[in-house]
Amino acid sequence: MDPYDLLGVSRDADDAAIKKAYRALARKYHPDVNPDEASQERFKEISHAYEILSDPTKRAAYDRGGDMGFGFGGGAGAGAGFSFTDIMDAFFGGQGGGGGTSSGRGPRSRSRRGQDALVGLEIDLAEAAFGASHEMTLDTAVVCDTCHGEGAAPGSKPVTCETCRGAGEVAHVQRSFLGEIRTLRPCAACRGFGTIIPDPCRDCGGDGRVRTRRTITIKVPAGVDNGTRLQLTGQGEVGPGGGPAGDLYVELRVARHPVFQRQGSDLHCQVTIPMTAAALGTVITLPTLEADLVTDDVTPETPTSFDLEVKPGTQPGSDQVLRGLGVPGLHGRGRGDLVVTVLVETPTGLDDEQAELLTQLSKLRGEEHPLGSLKATRQGFFGRIRDAFGEH
Ligand code: ZN
Repeated sequence: MDPYDLLGVSRDADDAAIKKAYRALARKYHPDVNPDEASQERFKEISHAYEILSDPTKRAAYDRGGDMGFGFGGGAGAGAGFSFTDIMDAFFGGQGGGGGTSSGRGPRSRSRRGQDALVGLEIDLAEAAFGASHEMTLDTAVVCDTCHGEGAAPGSKPVTCETCRGAGEVAHVQRSFLGEIRTLRPCAACRGFGTIIPDPCRDCGGDGRVRTRRTITIKVPAGVDNGTRLQLTGQGEVGPGGGPAGDLYVELRVARHPVFQRQGSDLHCQVTIPMTAAALGTVITLPTLEADLVTDDVTPETPTSFDLEVKPGTQPGSDQVLRGLGVPGLHGRGRGDLVVTVLVETPTGLDDEQAELLTQLSKLRGEEHPLGSLKATRQGFFGRIRDAFGEH
């Protein structure tokens, strides 16, 4: 069929009229719009007609009588691989469709935010409870002093990229039967920056940052626990091109304490006393966790010791709770308790006199031939399993 007839234009139609006619027909028959088979076939025909009439060489050849292989008999689809939007963009500079392909984004900045960094810090229990100040040595990227993050050697400057003329993008042209389809891609010469650094800074290789070792002071707030992460804004890695630094995260690990075990905001410890003290009662002075803070020039405001009153007849394994001697809450909210478990030690290695006294005591108490009192294990099997895991 005649391409002029297919597009419905006269033999002397100019390029604009041909384009206009094709645009109207493409909108009507494009498979994205009208997927039925007859429309698809029609679309192939009008597309092929347009391929001939939009190309001056092919159009002239057709006018001279060549048939240009017209009518490809439903072969490989014309228009395949190009969406309706692509075609409209190719023609009308993005006005026909979504307008995606020809709207540029411009050059990208060399400066980008740096990465966050994560480091671990071991502190002791008193530091976790009452807060501390810790010095820490880190290896991170910092702004290059030589070029101040610019990346250009002192006295030189980035120059506009000749390939993209500073746009950071170059048009990529795909030829098709419809003509040219333009898409924008980042410029390979300048990697999309729009500028090239002809003389990179020797100290940072043009990156604008160098790795260095620095010491920072980390303030550990009171009440932190094992696994707490502190966020230090802007103390992470500096970004390339003088970009802002990421954040530094410090993950705390609280070392095991020889005396106190922490459970939430409570502290637990055990004290062992002689059998006679458990029977008669006594008062024992014990250190608080604050005692760990005492140095030659520091004396904490809070007490570093407390008096544990052991009442007469205290049983082994009994707990005493001392209110407010545990771990302070984060942000100064409340304070946990100290739970002291009293263990009683049976005397060993009695001499004759001691044995005699205890024998007299047992006679007085009628305990020479004790029957014992039999009962089930206090916690049972699963309780012991729990204890085994809870110990650590
Ligand atoms: Zn530099």
